[in-house]
Amino acid sequence: MGYLIDEVPIVSKVLRNKDDSCWSFFCPGCEVTHNFYDSWVFNGDLERPTVEPSIKVEYCRYPLVDPTTGDFARGADGEYILDEHRMLRGAKKMTCHSFIRDGMIRFLADCTHGLAGKTVPLLDVPDDPPADHDIKRHS
Ligand SMILES: [Zn+2]
Repeated sequence: MGYLIDEVPIVSKVLRNKDDSCWSFFCPGCEVTHNFYDSWVFNGDLERPTVEPSIKVEYCRYPLVDPTTGDFARGADGEYILDEHRMLRGAKKMTCHSFIRDGMIRFLADCTHGLAGKTVPLLDVPDDPPADHDIKRHS
């Protein structure tokens, strides 16, 4: 989709949207925002949303950057250090799969984060949340 999350107006504590085709919520499992689109069925409740069907997000969580360079670690040859999957060393493939029902988010067992299998309330969207794509972690 490509727009910056901070351009997206707040429409409620738990949801933001730029237009009628894309909504975002803050995922307490990934601690980033995920989106759902107008191909999902949303009941329109901005405080206790229900969204069908499930939302499955797969993305890459980048490793920490080197604090002295602000960049990912590089080897002696100046190239980024990759793992056996040719991903940046320390990067992690993430899967997040959930149902949002009545303001609660139920994480399915295939989630790679610590809330797999748990059901928790949707959290308020923070002021400047990272999105699930292009995450550079500085701490
Ligand atoms: Zn998530």
